[in-house]
Amino acid sequence: MDEKAVSSMETVLLMGDVDAIKDYVFESSRLPQIRGASALLMRCEAEIRQRIREANGRILVARGGFLLAEVPAAQIHRLAEEIPRIFASHTITATMTLAWEDPPGALPPPPSPIADGWAGRLIRAAPPSDPFPRRVAFLAARLRAAKESRSTVPTLETLPFARKCAICARRNASEPLYLPEGPLPVCPVCSTRHRAGWKARSGLRRMWHLWHPDFLGEPPQDLEQLVEGEPHGRLAFIYADGNDIGRHLMTLSDPQAYQAFSRKIYRGTRRAVFEALGIALKGWQGNFWPFELINIGGDDITLLIQARYALPFALAFLERFHLHTSFTASCAIVIADHKYPIRYFEALAADLLKGAKERAKSGPEPDSALHFLWLPEPVAGEEADLFLQRYQSEEGGRRLRWTARPYRLAQAWQLYELALALKDRVSRSQRQQWAEALTQGVLPSVQFIQYQIARAPQGDRSALRKLLERARDLCGFTGASHLLFWVEEPGRAAWVTAMMDLLEWAELLEAA
Ligand SMILES: [Zn+2]
Repeated sequence: MDEKAVSSMETVLLMGDVDAIKDYVFESSRLPQIRGASALLMRCEAEIRQRIREANGRILVARGGFLLAEVPAAQIHRLAEEIPRIFASHTITATMTLAWEDPPGALPPPPSPIADGWAGRLIRAAPPSDPFPRRVAFLAARLRAAKESRSTVPTLETLPFARKCAICARRNASEPLYLPEGPLPVCPVCSTRHRAGWKARSGLRRMWHLWHPDFLGEPPQDLEQLVEGEPHGRLAFIYADGNDIGRHLMTLSDPQAYQAFSRKIYRGTRRAVFEALGIALKGWQGNFWPFELINIGGDDITLLIQARYALPFALAFLERFHLHTSFTASCAIVIADHKYPIRYFEALAADLLKGAKERAKSGPEPDSALHFLWLPEPVAGEEADLFLQRYQSEEGGRRLRWTARPYRLAQAWQLYELALALKDRVSRSQRQQWAEALTQGVLPSVQFIQYQIARAPQGDRSALRKLLERARDLCGFTGASHLLFWVEEPGRAAWVTAMMDLLEWAELLEAA
């Protein structure tokens, strides 16, 4: 069916969103479970696309758990029954809330406060210039209401004394899963995800080799393999998405424009991810790929990668994303032991991303931005601020901040460059002492580090001084006064330095 035929029919918009998608994908911290969950959701999306096309509909977007399609009004009820069945048959527990237009093309009533009087008359008189975004917004509101009123989520019956699943520990075990460490009693949901994760490896290999045919190694089978060779098994969870995409969607005046835009953004995002991985992993050698791409949604990505590659990947991704989509993006990196529960990684990254978005908007021009958090000790938590507060102290009534994150993209590049230089010029044990000195206050840390520099080989001294002065630029403002790498924050009783950011990345990049 061609596009013209679709537009000549009476059509309605259908919107869908997978419920609690993160609970489904990150329920377990095991890699095959995570990989299997995203593979199964993609299979559902592919099948939904197929059904909608068979019903002579048009997909505007179907990625990352979100669906928007234009379908013949006569088919809507059948599709609304089929889609939940698709999720149930592949995933057992994942569900998608749906909302559709009824009657076709219905517009929301004009807002009530200005429904009367001259203003109301004018609104009613002026034909809405862009009805399509209003339809989309209306449907989104309806979808939200449907989610809020949802009461039944499919659950599998759990009996009080039944044996629990060894993977999720939530549902009853009903079958054995044969793993290298021996058979495990598991529930049908985890068993399905595991099998899908296992099968997805060959697809991953094919996809990756399309972009990087010379890359050797295998997709890792678990997180231990993923972090093989990384000191202390440090894993980075990366979450990134485009800035202002939602606002732009609301300016698109018809379904064709929406479809074209969502395709363009998806392709640009995918290209940016694969190119950035190629750049960050240049020269990599090993048995198992040091990363796992969990999801490329419309404009958002979720990725696991060895800690040492996180910063170079994020920088290359932000740059490429802008190049291929002409939008800026924000990125959050959380680094912790690979045994740290993946749902904490995810929650902290989502929280950090908000900080990156604020930084992205803070300048005169919109910019890409980067935020990060390294937890050397695996402490449970979902609020990034609680961890970031540890980078502060009080000294004589003024606040000291040892970190200047989040960073705008140009600063983040400088951070990377300076961290590499610091790693090469200052030994690990000295950097440890510098970090301790930072927590002592402005003057003690400056004196200590100056003393250390004075004892450095002559050739290094001026380079190190220059490095510390350049670290001041990372604070993002020029203060009323400064002292080597510290800057006084204008208008506040506070001193800021980016030194802890540099020291942390120098340590993380040590292995690179
Ligand atoms: Zn289970």
